[in-house]
Amino acid sequence: MGSEQLPAVARLAPSPTGAQHLGNARTYLIAYWSARAVNASLILRIEDIDSPRIKPWATEQAMVDLKWLGIEWDEGPDVGGAHGPYVQTQRTHLYQTALENLMAAGRVYPCVCSRRDIETAASAPHAGDEGPVYPGTCANWQLGDPLPEPGSFCWRFRCRTEQMDFVDHFVGTQSCMPSRDLGDFPVTRKTGDAAYQLAVVVDDSSMGVTEVVRGMDLLPSTFRQLELYRALGCQPPTFSHVPLVVGKDGRRLAKRHGDTRLSQYRESQIRPIDVVRWAAQSAGLFSDAMAQTSDLTGLHQEIIRAFRWDVLSRETVIVDPGSISLRI
Ligand code: GLU
Repeated sequence: MGSEQLPAVARLAPSPTGAQHLGNARTYLIAYWSARAVNASLILRIEDIDSPRIKPWATEQAMVDLKWLGIEWDEGPDVGGAHGPYVQTQRTHLYQTALENLMAAGRVYPCVCSRRDIETAASAPHAGDEGPVYPGTCANWQLGDPLPEPGSFCWRFRCRTEQMDFVDHFVGTQSCMPSRDLGDFPVTRKTGDAAYQLAVVVDDSSMGVTEVVRGMDLLPSTFRQLELYRALGCQPPTFSHVPLVVGKDGRRLAKRHGDTRLSQYRESQIRPIDVVRWAAQSAGLFSDAMAQTSDLTGLHQEIIRAFRWDVLSRETVIVDPGSISLRI
């Protein structure tokens, strides 16, 4: 028990909150090459639970973008598979069951605080994208206490007050004290719908995902997700967090830096092979032989053959969309 080899399963998990850009492309390509290099099957999952920010056109566009890049997946909303459905808004029953398990185990409490309450009360340092550390205002609630008015609270996960370490497959050992450095975090919204942290853990776990490759911005979230894996009694995947693509100002690539949407490249003269070559070169995976390969499938095959995590560049990638040349 415990030592059986699981079949390798990887996933791509775009959020249809907007267009996919060059930074997303680079991360998806690395995830794809890494998966294929170990013969992992690849799942495409659409993370569409962030309701106010979801754009109706963005799911279809993300799938067109990924196919344009030459990325192929084995399971997904368009091809089906054994782990469906592949769209998070169709998986809410699974999140509800997990939430009930966390409730029964006393690991979550109802929290009526608004984002503003938390920001005002939080004196702890900000944890970047993870938001301010929750000051614990509602944390005294215990199982059996009355619940606040429906719709007025989210369920918040109570972190353990222990140091946590994990070994990122790419960037090595990471440590933090989740209760102090990140704080208790919501696993639902006030509507009762699952929040990202819960949905992603339930999905990766129920889809049998064994390796997660994603952007460095989600590294702090991994501590939260590992807490959830543990609380739900599930086996976590390996995590590899890859450098982000940033603008010249050092900030994550975004609209303000210029237009790097893949859809815009597709509509202009840029060929997908140029984007793939750029990504391979920026990742330190490019060779002279690859420069000679003029067909997209062949290029992917060569990169997959050459793919090694230990040669992958650890540098943040800086691009200036105005002057970037994707022709190598
Ligand atoms: N859907 C998330 C995003 O597009 C990725 C989540 C993950 O990889 O865990 O940022």
